[in-house]
Amino acid sequence: MKISLPKGTKDILPGEMIKWNYIENAFSNVCKNAGYGEIRFPVFEYTDLFNRGVGDSTDIVQKEMYTFEDKSGRSLTLRPEGTAGVVRSYIEKGMSSLPQPVKLFYMITAYRYENVQKGRYREFNQFGAEIFGAKSPYADIEVISILSNFYSALGIRNLALEINSIGCRVCRPAYNIKLKEYYKDKIKGMCADCKKRYETNPLRLLDCKNENCIAISADAPFITDNLCGECATHFSGFKNGLDKMNIDYTVNKGIVRGLDYYTKTVFEFVSENVGTQGTICGGGRYDGLVESLGGKDVPGIGFSMGVERLLMELESRGIILGKPERPEIYFVTVGEKAYAYARNLSCALRKAGIFTEMDLLGRSVKAQMKDANRKNTIYTVVMGDDEISQNKAVIKIMDTGEKKDVSLDSIFKRITEKKV
Ligand code: ATP
Ligand code: MG
Repeated sequence: MKISLPKGTKDILPGEMIKWNYIENAFSNVCKNAGYGEIRFPVFEYTDLFNRGVGDSTDIVQKEMYTFEDKSGRSLTLRPEGTAGVVRSYIEKGMSSLPQPVKLFYMITAYRYENVQKGRYREFNQFGAEIFGAKSPYADIEVISILSNFYSALGIRNLALEINSIGCRVCRPAYNIKLKEYYKDKIKGMCADCKKRYETNPLRLLDCKNENCIAISADAPFITDNLCGECATHFSGFKNGLDKMNIDYTVNKGIVRGLDYYTKTVFEFVSENVGTQGTICGGGRYDGLVESLGGKDVPGIGFSMGVERLLMELESRGIILGKPERPEIYFVTVGEKAYAYARNLSCALRKAGIFTEMDLLGRSVKAQMKDANRKNTIYTVVMGDDEISQNKAVIKIMDTGEKKDVSLDSIFKRITEKKV
């Protein structure tokens, strides 16, 4: 029986890895240039971490987690996102005793049991970053500026940024009451999920993607009109900072983020090119999360970006990143001695960091030449046993067709010193 990929997963083959490597390098460079250190953490954690850290009322915890028992009966879950694991590590590794802020970035796979569709998979990749220990809107602005640098490094201009503030423990309860008041007579006509949200997390009524529910929410009270003094000052500080950096945004009261732990600033980078949901990157502030997972009262802010959706955006914009590496030199040989000589030289060049190719299939000279052309090599050297005994070779510059007579033992120096 043929075994196929599990639904919602994929293979990334070498041809495609070129752009993955390109964007991974770009993201890592942008983060490192801003003082962020990379963190890696487990693919699975105790289920409780996500129940508490992502939140009971979220779609993730309600219906999307890959939860299983290990052989000792512990409940484990494949990470559905990165923040909870990073926060667990921040607390467990005592990072609150380091000089603050602590700035971390990650590049991970994540797992959610979802209805598979365009831009929505069961195993997908996220790039993310988090800042711990910085309360001021400067941190919020820095996070956006990193993303803006990253998108411009990839040649993506004008990706729409939508921002909002969802208040805090002080102002949100009163706003939730207002919301429930607004929806009281309308909830009957809303979807089943919204009926649940009405009870557990009314803010998320604004986040529903159902068209009928969106229409019903059109006149709901704005949270930004209901912020406490501290949240209002924070939000205007954030907006001012973006203005001063000439970063465009719109305030969208419908952005409340799916995860329970957000406070104050929330934001999304959105695009019509990435499937029904349209969000490439989402993030926000989570000032209560570290404490609620057993750490100190440390504020946090971060984002996570769907890498597959980012690639869809690049593709719809016609942006092609990275190109296949060209071999520097392809040794075309005939005869045992020439083959052995080329193999040693090729090995020495590779050791010196040069990309070289040669045949492994015992092919004819003609077939080796064809292979050299297909691999788009920069130079070829054709050699037979005679050339070895006479210490001479012909090196061909493939782009121009020009040929040069050289001594065999000068090839290493010529190639490594780039003086062919
Ligand atoms: P959505 O509203 O699209 O379901 P979300 O709010 O569940 O997104 P987050 O938890 O904020 O998503 O995850 C951050 C980013 O990860 C999203 O903006 C998106 O780009 C990406 N993402 C989320 N779920 C998936 C998925 N199943 N497949 C691919 N990418 C995803
Ligand atoms: Mg989702």
